[in-house]
Amino acid sequence: MLTYHTWDGEKPSFPSDNDTKGALDVLRWAYDHYEDDIVYACSFGIEGIVLIDLIAKVRPNAEIVFLDTDLHFPETYETIEKVKQQYPSLRIVMKKPHLTLDEQAEQFGAELWKQNPNKCCELRKIIPLREVLTGVTAWISGLRREQSPTRQHVQYLNKDDKFQSIKVCPLIHWTWKDVWNYVYKHELPYNVLHDRGYPSIGCEPCTSPALDINDLRSGRWAGHGKTECGLHL
Ligand code: SF4
Repeated sequence: MLTYHTWDGEKPSFPSDNDTKGALDVLRWAYDHYEDDIVYACSFGIEGIVLIDLIAKVRPNAEIVFLDTDLHFPETYETIEKVKQQYPSLRIVMKKPHLTLDEQAEQFGAELWKQNPNKCCELRKIIPLREVLTGVTAWISGLRREQSPTRQHVQYLNKDDKFQSIKVCPLIHWTWKDVWNYVYKHELPYNVLHDRGYPSIGCEPCTSPALDINDLRSGRWAGHGKTECGLHL
């Protein structure tokens, strides 16, 4: 079984608690600047776990929103419960789409994610996030430049025309190795699917183990010519 977060011959070592490649400074600035007018939209993948730990140091009662499509893996919901136990003061909100899965099937056809994944993502992720972001000025995302060519130019602060918002990305300089070093060092809970070959975890029907170890998102929407749900386009 491939585990994507291990590497040969090196022990995890993150430089120091103070060296977070700018992430803590960015978060401190963001929460000082936006106060409660900022929300973290978290997928509870491994970058999300790091960000939650950093956010809890800066704003222990921060609002964390999970776009609950009703289609996530059981292991993802279990991870959320573990995070709730570890950070009881964080406000974790499960944001649901307007349509249940049955209603969506009635209106748009069964298993829409197979026929039209863009429409499915719009209904179950993009519209709900837009509703969340209409109430705030800025949102936080765990994008890293290393993740994909489409993310190479992400800045700490980004004008987000899609959601008419400011997108704050504290982890842009973190590597995959940095992320796991931090998780190991601080013994953070994480989704066990990461140990089963899933470096990037989304909805269950659209996520498979990564096909290419050099492309951490290669297990997302495999075979559909789609690499992003649309939140970051
Ligand atoms: Fe639908 Fe797949 Fe998008 Fe989830 S990731 S909202 S199942 S198309």
